[in-house]
Amino acid sequence: MKKFIGEFKEFISRGNVMDLAVGMIIGAAFTGIVNSLVNDIVMPLISMITGGISFDEWNFALASGENPPSLNLGTFLAQVLNFIIIAFVIFMVVKGLNKLRAMGAKPEAEAPAEPATKICPYCKSEISPEATRCPHCTSVLEQ
Ligand SMILES: [Zn+2]
Repeated sequence: MKKFIGEFKEFISRGNVMDLAVGMIIGAAFTGIVNSLVNDIVMPLISMITGGISFDEWNFALASGENPPSLNLGTFLAQVLNFIIIAFVIFMVVKGLNKLRAMGAKPEAEAPAEPATKICPYCKSEISPEATRCPHCTSVLEQ
C-alpha cells in the first residue's frame, strides 16, 4: 500500500499531469463559454436572420401523438457549431504555441557552434582555440 501511494505521488508530481489537469479545467470552462456563445448569441442571431425560426424548436416530429420521436435539427446544428468553434480555437492555440516554440528554439539553432580547433598561422596544423603557443611549431600566437 505504501508503495502504491508512493507511485501515485510520483505520478501526480510529474509536471505534465498537472499541465493536463490545468488544461482540462480551462477546457471545461472554455466549453461553457462556447456553449453560451452559440446558444445565447449566435443561434438567436441566426434565428433573427432566418425570420424568427427558433432553433430550439426547429425539430420535425416523426410520428403523431403525445410525445412523438423527433429530429431535433436545431440543437444538432448548435452542437456542430460548438464543435467548429472549439476546433478552430484549439487550432489557433496550437498554431500559436508552435510559433512560440519555434521562436524560442531559433536562436539556439542559429548560434554558430564554437569551433573545436583553430589553425596555427605558422605551421597550419590544428590546435586548441585557446592555445597561446603552438604545440607543433612552438610559435607564440596572438589572441
Ligand atoms: Zn604551429
